[in-house]
Amino acid sequence: MSSVPSLFPVFVDLRDRPVLVVGGGAVARRKSAALLEAGARVTVGAPALDPTLAGWVRQGRVVHVSGVFEAGWLDGAWLVVAATDDDGTNRAVAAAAGARRVWANVVDEAELSAFHVPSRIRRGPLQVAISSGGGAPMLARAVRERLETRLDDSLGPLAELLTRRRHRIRARLTDIAARRRFFDRLFDGPLPALLRRGARDAAERAFEQALAEAPAQSTGSVALVGAGPGDPGLLTLRGLRLLNEADVILHDRLVSPEVLDLARRDAERIEVGKQAGNHRTTQAQIHALMLEHAGAGRRVVRLKGGDPFVFGRGGEELQVLRAHGIDYEVVPGITAALACGAYAGIPLTHRDHAQSVRLLTAHCRDPSDELDWASLAAGSQTLAVYMGVGGLERFGERLVAHGRAPSTPFALVENGSRADQRVVTGRLAELAERAREHHIASPALLVVGEVAALADTLHWFGAPPLGGCRPEALPHAA
Ligand code: SAH
Repeated sequence: MSSVPSLFPVFVDLRDRPVLVVGGGAVARRKSAALLEAGARVTVGAPALDPTLAGWVRQGRVVHVSGVFEAGWLDGAWLVVAATDDDGTNRAVAAAAGARRVWANVVDEAELSAFHVPSRIRRGPLQVAISSGGGAPMLARAVRERLETRLDDSLGPLAELLTRRRHRIRARLTDIAARRRFFDRLFDGPLPALLRRGARDAAERAFEQALAEAPAQSTGSVALVGAGPGDPGLLTLRGLRLLNEADVILHDRLVSPEVLDLARRDAERIEVGKQAGNHRTTQAQIHALMLEHAGAGRRVVRLKGGDPFVFGRGGEELQVLRAHGIDYEVVPGITAALACGAYAGIPLTHRDHAQSVRLLTAHCRDPSDELDWASLAAGSQTLAVYMGVGGLERFGERLVAHGRAPSTPFALVENGSRADQRVVTGRLAELAERAREHHIASPALLVVGEVAALADTLHWFGAPPLGGCRPEALPHAA
């Protein structure tokens, strides 16, 4: 995060409001033209005016105050733009405006400006404003150019049509969630294409039909969405679409902030983080929240780290939704085992080393009661273990006790796929020691099997693995 606070964007309504432009040259003319277009009452103060400006004065479009700037010119002005080529005058304008609490912009002088004029893209009443805070105007300009080509021309007439119909839409669809659905369908429907072709009448008809057919009450639903392991690039397109349509997002603590940033700004976000031993929201409370919001007609996204059906209690949540007759859908996500394998350079299967992969969890409880250790200890397979870091020591010991070779390679992948990913590799006999030595913290995935050693040579993401499966690290017994 930058230490400089970013500018606060606003769009101001200048209709019939007095605005002062100081300067009489080409820059002052351009600024005056933009202000006039916004409906401002423009006064230009300067000793002499450029011919076009002088023409506007004769037509009564702007008022001219002749002479050298004095603070009294600011009386009654809402904004002032200093557009002279004299640094001293520009500074005097900024200082006088500051003293009177009038917002001042000094053209091309970010430091002196209390407000900045952004680069902008216009499609009728729809405007996109871009600012770099004054520090990198060329970058803002480049971004503007890129966006220009992406935002098609139908947006202008579309914004006009919606502005004209605004009150009717509100009167017909009083429920905000129902309105939101109507707009989503409208934008996905034939209307934009009709406007793009200039088929205005057909567009009006399409709009009327969509409004007439829109359900007045929205029905709620829950989408169980896998957010993947952290890297936002690993979210599915379908998951992204649902996040953009959501009214409410119930997310786990494990979901990365970068993924949440992709969701609709005004969706209500509720963290239902669960930490082992310190349950902040119980599973029953999560069920109640889903039922409450979906029951009120909202579109709920239940966003889970990784895949919702892999150690995510997604199954239980669907059973509850089913029992209460709530519509649901499930969007898979990239589970930690697949992500950690890929991002650590560990192929989970490999013709020479492992013909199967097992996903298992040894979370919290004493694993000895629940797992079939003899089969877990068998060779030629890869184990991907989802677990709290606390259980590592016992896990390694038990595998060895049941016959897996102490020299079997392991890899611990902490924060897999995230910028702070760390990988520790070694041999099973030294698993606990290595984890402690490197202070491995949750979330971390343990990979056991010959393939884990490949991380030492195939790694490509982030820092190289710590430790390593060096032969000299082998315990003598092996
Ligand atoms: N549904 C999730 C798993 C939830 S259980 C999924 O499919 O990935 C939580 C465990 O998943 C953590 O204790 C950790 O073992 C593992 N995990 C989740 N995200 C991880 C990540 N980015 N890096 C390493 N392990 C992760």
